[in-house]
Order: sequence, then C-alpha cells, then structure tokens
Amino acid sequence: MLVNIGVLAFQGSVIEHMNSLSRLKDVNPLEVKTLSELNTVDGLILPGGESTTIGKLLRDFELAPYIIERINMGMPVWGTCAGMILLARKIAGGENPHLDVMDIVVRRNAYGGQLDSFSTNVSIPEIAESQLPLVFIRAPWIEEVSEKVKVLCKINDKIVAARQDNMFVTSFHPELTENLEFHKYFAGIVAHNMLEKKTSCKK
Ligand code: GLN
Repeated sequence: MLVNIGVLAFQGSVIEHMNSLSRLKDVNPLEVKTLSELNTVDGLILPGGESTTIGKLLRDFELAPYIIERINMGMPVWGTCAGMILLARKIAGGENPHLDVMDIVVRRNAYGGQLDSFSTNVSIPEIAESQLPLVFIRAPWIEEVSEKVKVLCKINDKIVAARQDNMFVTSFHPELTENLEFHKYFAGIVAHNMLEKKTSCKK
C-alpha cells in the first residue's frame, strides 16, 4: 500500500528526511507548509532544527491547530529532536509548549558541553533487530513520561526514544545516517493506521 508521508518543511533537516523517505518503496514523500498540503498526507514528520523557530513559523503560518487536530484524530506523527520538543506537553525550564500533545517533559540542549553532539550504536528491539546508529545534535532528552508513553530507548538512563499511540519521538537524527530502519518503522505505523481506518469504514 502506498502511503503519503509529509515532512514539515519550514526549517531544519527537511531534505534529509525527504531523501530517506524517497528510498523506501510504497512511500510518497511530500513537503508540508500549507493546510492543503497537510490534508494530503497520511502521516507527518516534524524534523530537527530549532524548535523555537519552527514553533514560531507553525503559529505564523497558522498550521499548528490543524496539525494538533490531525494528531488528535489519530494521524501518525514522528518528531525528531526539535520535532520532539514541538510535540511535548512540557518543556523543562518553563518555556511554553508548542503543539502540547504528547505526555512527555523534555529538556532542550540537555547534553551540554562536550557531549553537545555525538553518535553511538544501540539495539532497539521495537525498531529493528540490527544495531542502529544514533546521531545526537544539541539534542533534548525526555525527563518524564506518563503511563501512556512507552519508552523505546534509554542512553545512560536518559530517555531518547518513546511512543504514545500515534506519536513517536526520537532525540536523535536517523535522517542524517544511511540507515532506514526508523523511517521504515514510521512508514509501518502509517500503513497500519490506514488499514485500520479502512476496516473501520466498512463497519
Ligand atoms: N537544540 C534544538 C532545540 O532546542 C534542537 C536541535 C536539533 O533539532 N538538532 O530546538
């Protein structure tokens, strides 16, 4: 089944996500900046970048309420790094949340100093059997989750990947690696969601 996956295209690692998606069969990647573009996608990636900038553009372009509505209606969404910050209900330190939909508390630029940017390899059984390369760039981590959130990966006791129903977040940037497992995983969530919708329409 062909799925349309959008990448919010205001700022950040948009081209890199588009490139990764275009290497998957059965995925039609689309850049999303407007409501009509948002309406054509079955799932949406919020890329890494600068969360304050992307959050401001979401408000300026008046797209935020529509994205929130689609997420609440079940549209799969994947926030990478800044995208994860956009989805959080709370940003540690008192900054106002942006889309305010996922039960996570995030800390921006959590890996200060020398660990500011780094990479590592881990195994995340939910995503793939193989080792996965993780690239962190001025990354946030998740400090708290509600019981609705499934923790998928921790590094040194800090949560760096999680899922709550249709919402998936990673502190790191799979689109900056050659590895496609995270994009395949998200495309699987989108395809599964579409199949479920089709089944429920028949009832
Ligand atoms: N430091 C950025 C922020 O706080 C996130 C960095 C990234 O997306 N690579 O928004």
